[in-house]
Amino acid sequence: MISVEEAKNIINSQKPNWGDRKVLLAESMGEVLAEDISADRDFPPFDRVTMDGIALSYESFHQGQREFKVQEIQLAGEPAVALKNPDYAIEIMTGAMLSKGCDLVIRYEDLEFFEEGNQKNVRIILDSAERWKNVHKQGSDLGAGELLIPEGQLITAAEVAIMATVGCDVVKVQSKPNVAIVSTGDELVDVREKPLPHQIRKSNAVAIEASLNQLRIPNKRFHLVDDKKELKEKIRTILDEFDLVLMSGGVSKGKADYLPEVLEELKVEKLFHRVAQRPGKPFWFGVNEVGKQVFAFPGNPISTYMCFRVYFMPWLMKNLKREIPMKVAILQEDVSFKPDLGYFLQIRSEISVQGHIDAFPEMGNGSGDLANLAKSDAFLYLPPGQNLYKARKSYEYYSFDISSLA
Ligand code: AMP
Ligand code: MG
Repeated sequence: MISVEEAKNIINSQKPNWGDRKVLLAESMGEVLAEDISADRDFPPFDRVTMDGIALSYESFHQGQREFKVQEIQLAGEPAVALKNPDYAIEIMTGAMLSKGCDLVIRYEDLEFFEEGNQKNVRIILDSAERWKNVHKQGSDLGAGELLIPEGQLITAAEVAIMATVGCDVVKVQSKPNVAIVSTGDELVDVREKPLPHQIRKSNAVAIEASLNQLRIPNKRFHLVDDKKELKEKIRTILDEFDLVLMSGGVSKGKADYLPEVLEELKVEKLFHRVAQRPGKPFWFGVNEVGKQVFAFPGNPISTYMCFRVYFMPWLMKNLKREIPMKVAILQEDVSFKPDLGYFLQIRSEISVQGHIDAFPEMGNGSGDLANLAKSDAFLYLPPGQNLYKARKSYEYYSFDISSLA
């Protein structure tokens, strides 16, 4: 039996490659870039005016000239006009290409306009200004060909804007894994069915399916009966078709818990079986010859749910470049727990006035007490090596709510 930390390390040492695919830029939010994005031209691509005002020759201004004839108006989106001579200035707008022969822009706030006959003139009411003032020089941010966004970066609105400006309408992104969710157990019937007295409805696979759907991870659900031959045949085809498999049930010590045996026969190498924790002790994890992971969670609903949240989710998100930040919460009542196991305590959380997460234990009746999940909203990890966990200490916190990642 291995520790919680060892189990996490073994899982996290798996670095899968799920390949890549192309998506439209407008559909790329939340994906991870699978290519470098470089500048197709200089940033900015021309000497760009950053204030509405006038463009003129710095030399004239520097020598003391403050009154200029207005030559014409140049708007953004027009090719650059040329200054006739240094006695002129060009009225120019933000976003325009700087007029030829100009190397200074003075904003309207520092100008006064006046007429002389039919000639519109301008007076600058500013003592000093440096050359290139109010001009965003061509290539001053980046040169053509330089790296803008490296492969592996998460795409947010900022990356979309940058890719739009360099003309990437189709983007190469990392593929997400296609996940098979496999529940096992002859006692289980479908959600829509009415169970006989000795049966129960499947809930584990449905909860996993709902979580993966929320995270937009492609998935498909299967249910297999507790029959060794059938398990082997079905799991073989599932392993062919999917990138990874999440299982619930069939990994404990029961007479119908065939999975470890079947997985071994299918050449899925066991990386661990059994973790020193409660709930979820029988957790089994392995990888096959072509690097496909199998997470086989114990069937008790809280165990499946805890292992999915604590082990699978952070690993999945890490490999999709969406690391889940580790949080801590402050235990509010003493908790006594004797076995030398890591204990994932169900808690109800509240944010304190100081902004901390306060954790109130919701003990429930063990790993089969599904109803207790609704009273709690997170797991608090109480590490082994203690019998009494004192109130007001901080522990690792695993919220059930993963919507911020969706
Ligand atoms: P197992 O890990 O197969 O020994 O199952 C442990 C307990 O969890 C049994 O009481 C099962 O009925 C229950 N269980 C197993 N799979 C599921 C499931 N998909 N949904 C709800 N309960 C389950
Ligand atoms: Mg079972």
